[in-house]
Amino acid sequence: MQLFDTHCHIDLEEFDQDRGQILTAAREQGVSDIVVPGVLQNRWFHLLEICESYNGLHPAVGLHPMYLSEHNKTHLELLESVLAENTVVAIGEVGLDFYVNDVDKQGQFKLLDAQLAIAKTADLPVILHCRKAYDDLIKLLTQHQLKGGIAHAFNGSQQQAGKLIDLGFKLGFGGMLTYERSTKLRRLAQQLPLANIVLETDSPFMTVSQHQGERNSPVYLPYVLQALSEIRPESMEHIAHQTYQNSLEVFCI
Ligand SMILES: [Zn+2]
Repeated sequence: MQLFDTHCHIDLEEFDQDRGQILTAAREQGVSDIVVPGVLQNRWFHLLEICESYNGLHPAVGLHPMYLSEHNKTHLELLESVLAENTVVAIGEVGLDFYVNDVDKQGQFKLLDAQLAIAKTADLPVILHCRKAYDDLIKLLTQHQLKGGIAHAFNGSQQQAGKLIDLGFKLGFGGMLTYERSTKLRRLAQQLPLANIVLETDSPFMTVSQHQGERNSPVYLPYVLQALSEIRPESMEHIAHQTYQNSLEVFCI
């Protein structure tokens, strides 16, 4: 079985001590491809270097909404020059995060709007992060007519899922699916067409229930596959194959 982790922050310092071992162990579990999304301008070059050092790592670059206060206008210009000089598979992760109080919504809109315009010009897919802002996100995406991408760690409604799919996006499911209490999310993952689903770990965050409290890693991606196969009619092999193909398609690999 060949698996694709479409969202894994393997560049973070949490993996500095054992990155090579983790990637080898993940490969032994069948995880042959991993997309590493960028969140901060000052981490992009480190991320690109890491992706060049190991097989099967695919870089993405973007400015994450949670770090809004750390981004500035020159970072957007740098984003364009990074795209001109490097091969990346997507813009991301970018998006809207209205989860915490006192967020600068206007600032997040402006940052996302600018990055979606860059994605459009570069003809790249987008990796989206979204919390408590799906309707606003969908509105903005509708204006941009992008080539699609992934709504990572999707946790919106069935209706919002449908709209994102219509806009060319696939929905990313990860560790949350392994928790029995995730009833709404599981129902959604059960009902969506398999062609619109991709797997992810979001390592080192969002650990699977089997390793709750530990650092998450791409080695645990098979647990997400297993959770999905328990709630869907298809076999585990079929889900692995289809989600892998979906991932290649969305990132044009
Ligand atoms: Zn992430």
